[in-house]
Amino acid sequence: MNLLAVIVTMLTAVQGDAVQIQVPGEPDLVGVDAVWNDHRIPFVQTDAGWFTVVGVDLAMAPGEHSAELSFTYSDGRTRRRVETINVQSREFPTTRLTVEPKYVELSAENQARATREREEIDTVYATLTPDAFWREPFRVPIPGTTGGRNFGNRRVFNDQPRAPHSGADLKAVTGTEIHAANRGRVVLAKNLFYSGNAVFIDHGLGVYTVYLHLSEILVEPGSIVERGHVVGLAGATGRVTGPHLHWGARIVDARVDPFSLLKLGN
Ligand SMILES: [Zn+2]
Repeated sequence: MNLLAVIVTMLTAVQGDAVQIQVPGEPDLVGVDAVWNDHRIPFVQTDAGWFTVVGVDLAMAPGEHSAELSFTYSDGRTRRRVETINVQSREFPTTRLTVEPKYVELSAENQARATREREEIDTVYATLTPDAFWREPFRVPIPGTTGGRNFGNRRVFNDQPRAPHSGADLKAVTGTEIHAANRGRVVLAKNLFYSGNAVFIDHGLGVYTVYLHLSEILVEPGSIVERGHVVGLAGATGRVTGPHLHWGARIVDARVDPFSLLKLGN
């Protein structure tokens, strides 16, 4: 009763979405993984079956993209299935911002610092923890917040174009408690040139959330935080126009809208 045909199913997403892929449990099934955007992403087994999460980068070309799923059975047998994700485009407006000149015309020292920190962050994101630390839904870091502004916006700082906004900005006065969106491991908790006081959490499966511009950091790198744990206090450190929380999410190399994590079911 082994189906040899490749079953193709279709999921729909917009640029910047986190997409959960779920497959049912089967007897003797010992492993599932997906190849998405040239990365091999493992699935995690739960009572409900197997799941993983992939990210649609905010700049991914609209159209059909496929994830190739591989199933491995205890007798060594394997099976493949193609999951197609139909990516739709999303409108990203341009915002013009005025910040302290030192964040736009960098001194040699600040340029070297920013480059070093970029490499440090890239190294963090290059680590794919092959398990999920979380089992509950993701939540907003500030209770009661229903939306954020400007995810994916093209940005011009002091009349100079810069990278698109890779997170959502949440209204917050200085001192507002910032809660971990889900269970995970703190992988970075320090002051960064652009991000100010920053906390990065690895949730596993390549899913990261970040909390930037904090007035205070209240966690240590390496520690496991539970969903809702206070990781810091909102502030206005780094390249900002005023106090707020920049909440970002990343899935392997995809910059995703953190609010799309809230829709993941499991
Ligand atoms: Zn921001």
